[in-house]
Formats: sequence, C-alpha cells, structure tokens
Amino acid sequence: MTIVIFSTLLLVINCVPQEDKYGKTRDEIVTEQIENRGITNQPTLDAIRKVPRHKFVPPDLIENAYDDRPLPIGYGQTISQPYIVAYMTEAIDPKPVQKVLEIGTGSGYQAAVLAEIIDSVFTIEIITELYSSSQKRLNDLGYKNVLCKNADGYYGWEKYAPFDAIVVTAAAEYIPPPLIKQLKDGGKMIIPVGSPFLNQALILIEKSGEAITTTSLLPVRFVPFRRGD
Ligand code: SAH
Repeated sequence: MTIVIFSTLLLVINCVPQEDKYGKTRDEIVTEQIENRGITNQPTLDAIRKVPRHKFVPPDLIENAYDDRPLPIGYGQTISQPYIVAYMTEAIDPKPVQKVLEIGTGSGYQAAVLAEIIDSVFTIEIITELYSSSQKRLNDLGYKNVLCKNADGYYGWEKYAPFDAIVVTAAAEYIPPPLIKQLKDGGKMIIPVGSPFLNQALILIEKSGEAITTTSLLPVRFVPFRRGD
C-alpha cells in the first residue's frame, strides 16, 4: 500500500512540467515589473505569463532570464527587458485576427509573445545565425503561427503586406519608408528611433489614409538597426 502511494506520488511529481519552476517567477515579474509600471492590456499580461523566457536566453543566463533588464544573446545583440516587450506589445493594441511584422527576431522572444495573441506573425532577422537559432527555438516550442525570414528588414516583407501592425526592435536613425508603405490603413507601428546607443525614443506611428501621425512615447536604448549589403 505504502509503495503504491509512494510511486503514485512520484508519478505525480514527475508529471509536473518543468515550466512550473519559472511559472511563479513569471507571475511575480508581471506584477512587479509590468503591471506596477502601468501596463493594463490583458492579452499582453497573459502572454508574458505564458512564454518561457528562460528558453530564449543563452544557457549560462537562465537564472537571470527574468531579471528586470535586457540580456546578451550573442553577436552583440540583446533580448529586450520584459517591461519593454510588454510595452511594445500593448502599444500596437494586439488582436487575434491580425497580421503583424516584427523586424529583429533576435532570440524570438518578442515574436513568441506576439504569437500568443495574434494569429499571423512574420519576423525578419538580418544575422543568419540568430535567424537559424530563433527559427528552430520557435518551432520546437510549437509556435506554428510565426514565419521567419533571414533578410534586411528595412524592406519589410512585401509578399505578406499590408500588416495591421509592425514592431521594430532595433533603433533606426529614421523610419524606413518601405515599412510605412506596408502598414495597413488604420495600422500601428512601434519603432525605436535615434542614434546608436544614445538618445532614442520609442515612436508610435499611426496610419490613417495618407496621413501619418507620430507620437514619442518613451526614452529607450536599443541595439542599432543594421543594413544589409
Ligand atoms: N526582438 C528580439 C530582440 C532583438 S535585438 C528578441 O525578442 O530577442 C535586435 C535584433 O535586430 C538583433 O537580433 C539584430 O540582429 C536585428 N536587426 C538589426 N537590424 C536589422 C535589420 N535591418 N533587419 C532585420 N533584423 C535586424
């Protein structure tokens, strides 16, 4: 009898997914780092609670995955701070029946957060090694609604345009005109604009017919937007 109970207990313990080790941490950081700073969009909060951020960082940084800061992901690039990912996601007012384009896949974390909310996510990465590793990671984690491409995101992704929203996660010195063109009427784009590593601001761009409205939202520091050959 004791043996049966003991082995049942073992079985139950073994069935608890590994995820749960960080599930509580995610709940805590959503409250402390994100809700406390004013993010209220429910789908965004739920997505951050769900995506296993520790699977998007290099193995030696797993214990830091939920720190309130960006982390290096190799090739001089970074995975953004959880708050900034939440902020950018909320800013585009994400809805399930949408098509979103991300420029700068990096680790794939922002793409995964978007994919928890939005049906079709397209993401472009200029560094081939990061493109390959993030594509594999997103695939292994079961994100079937994310399509990855290895290219210079300056030109957007004409084949799938227009997009309801565009999220750029590298700082450009100016807003790439092809991205504005590929934004749907009524669409929103969020992009850090400014000099490399200095005075940058997150800019929200809203398109209404031919009219483009820009709003400066938040001072930020992103890695530079690079250009291909
Ligand atoms: N969104 C990422 C963070 C990315 S850091 C994440 O969640 O992890 C910015 C990324 O933008 C880097 O990986 C960098 O290589 C990429 N990048 C910079 N310029 C680019 C361009 N012109 N086209 C596509 N990707 C670009």
